[in-house]
Amino acid sequence: MRRKIVAGNWKMNGSKDLVTTLVGSVRSEVASLDNGVEVVIIPPAIYVRDVADKAGGELSVGVQNIGQWPSGAYTGEISAGMAVDQGCQFALVGHSERRQLFGETDELVAEKVSLLLKGGLRAVVCVGETLEQREAGRAVDVVAGQVRKGLATVTGDQWSQIVVAYEPVWAIGTGKTATAEDAQAMHAEIRKVLADMGAPAESVSVLYGGSVKADNAAALFAQPDIDGGLIGGASLVENDFISICRAM
Ligand code: PGA
Repeated sequence: MRRKIVAGNWKMNGSKDLVTTLVGSVRSEVASLDNGVEVVIIPPAIYVRDVADKAGGELSVGVQNIGQWPSGAYTGEISAGMAVDQGCQFALVGHSERRQLFGETDELVAEKVSLLLKGGLRAVVCVGETLEQREAGRAVDVVAGQVRKGLATVTGDQWSQIVVAYEPVWAIGTGKTATAEDAQAMHAEIRKVLADMGAPAESVSVLYGGSVKADNAAALFAQPDIDGGLIGGASLVENDFISICRAM
């Protein structure tokens, strides 16, 4: 009933060469999979057209961020409409690196969600607690608050364009992963919050992110409320990313 998704967030990594080699291989591999997974490549914006051409409609494509305005005098920014124009179906919003390094708040996340839904993109809305918040026993409260505020403007049919990614900040790029049980527990909490907000919670995909690798993906994806993964480092390594897509 829920879509299974594996998305590779390249962050500020990659090159035209990587597009040619990795995207081509992932595309032919995915074509032979029968596990129903939708694979999304999220490169730096400057490569989305190259990725879309190479993906040939068999893989989906996303941007890592959009600007907070629909268009205008905002040097350096790109809009949802431009991302769609260049072949994207998805955008990340509220990644913890955007929150921590660029000061993005839940309110800004909500504005961007609303802009990109209007622009015709599907939003992968990232949430997750820091180590300090987890150790203080506040993880569920923090994540629930991010879900409620970040998705505050979503209504009706728009929910079908929403994907949530739970990425505990302490697990991102650190090699530390939440145990499959801890991740499952948080995903179940997120689904409760979505239901409480009036969303069709059983049909919203909730992905796990944070040091997902070829050797831990299967255990995470086996959990009933984990519908796929948002993959950073391992999405840049062809064989690792392909193994993760296979593990779904
Ligand atoms: P990681 O990154 O897989 O390298 O931990 C995940 C993410 O930031 O989306």
